[in-house]
Amino acid sequence: MNRYRVRPFAFWNHDSTRVRGLTGRECAICKKLVREPFKHVAVVLDGGERWATQKDLDDPNTFRDPGYMGEFPIGPDCHKRYLLPDE
Ligand SMILES: [Zn+2]
Repeated sequence: MNRYRVRPFAFWNHDSTRVRGLTGRECAICKKLVREPFKHVAVVLDGGERWATQKDLDDPNTFRDPGYMGEFPIGPDCHKRYLLPDE
C-alpha cells in the first residue's frame, strides 16, 4: 500500500469541518481534485495521523478502529513527489 513522505492532509487546511465536507475525490495530500479512475490511492489511519501499511490492511481490527478514515486518491504530482519506497 502506498505511503508518503508527508503526513496525510499535509497541505489541507487542518479544519475538521473541511475534512467532513470532502467529496472523496480530493488528493489526500494537497486537496486538489483527482481525475477518476484513481491511479494512486492510500489509506489514512489514526484520524489523519498516518498512512496505512500493508500490515495494517491485513489486520481486520484496522477497519474497526474509530481513527480509520478510509481510502483516498493521491494526485499524480504528489504521488511522484512524496511516495516512500516499500518497507
Ligand atoms: Zn496532491
